[in-house]
Amino acid sequence: MFNISSIEIHLISDGVVWMDSGGPWGLVPRALWSRYLPPDDQHRVPMVLTCLLVRAAGKTIVVDTGYGDKLPPKMQELFNLQRAHGTLIDGLQRLGVTPEEVDIVIDTHLHGDHCAGNTRVTASGEVVATFPNATYYVQRREYEDAMQPNERTRATYQPVNYAPLVEAGQMILLDGDTAIVPGVKGVVCPGHTPGMQCVLIEDGGESALFVSDLASYAAHFERLGWMTAYDVEPLVTLETKRQWQQWALETGALIIFQHDTQILAGHYVEDDSQRKIVPVEADWV
Ligand SMILES: [Zn+2]
Repeated sequence: MFNISSIEIHLISDGVVWMDSGGPWGLVPRALWSRYLPPDDQHRVPMVLTCLLVRAAGKTIVVDTGYGDKLPPKMQELFNLQRAHGTLIDGLQRLGVTPEEVDIVIDTHLHGDHCAGNTRVTASGEVVATFPNATYYVQRREYEDAMQPNERTRATYQPVNYAPLVEAGQMILLDGDTAIVPGVKGVVCPGHTPGMQCVLIEDGGESALFVSDLASYAAHFERLGWMTAYDVEPLVTLETKRQWQQWALETGALIIFQHDTQILAGHYVEDDSQRKIVPVEADWV
């Protein structure tokens, strides 16, 4: 757990998937990235599905919801889904939080690995909110893109994960940077998708940034030119990262990575003219 002054942040894993290394590493030469993350014998690398439980302003807030129970058995096998720490729901339970007690869900974006856990399908085939009493938040631009996927984005944008929530008035569409509660802000960080938001947590002069896929792994944050092949606007990712790298240096903020299995969080520092992430000790609940 991290404390940003009075705000609590818990990391919860919804599992680990093993993805073809071409996805997270894109154009980065294998000789370079494999020093950080050795692939398995099928050239796959692990990506953890880290979600957050944030307690701020008297509210119980979940940030991103992982795959939930939506990954079909064939895909579970293909991605080698592993849930050594259980699911998001299991993690919440360990913290004494039931789905009914969650007040707010923030989706950084609507790719399946970030929001499929928003909803669940009942035995009778009805799609219902996983967190029935929560208000969900996502950027309007992200929702519009997700509702009009193209040939490249179609596989990951599944309306069942968000459209019923918007139709029911349970998901609020945000127009730009928004303080969702005091101390917890959705900040638009375009590149991976045009409407992706990171979550900025600030209290008592301290700050943390949950970077989502602005930097899937810590190594992506350190190197401006390293980005995933999933990014739809890679050169925009580069400029957004440049801006937040500078911010991280100036503020000393805690940077929380969503998919890194080794460096869950760290501080971006300049040391002997070398800029790098210095990891902090952290674990999933
Ligand atoms: Zn992702």
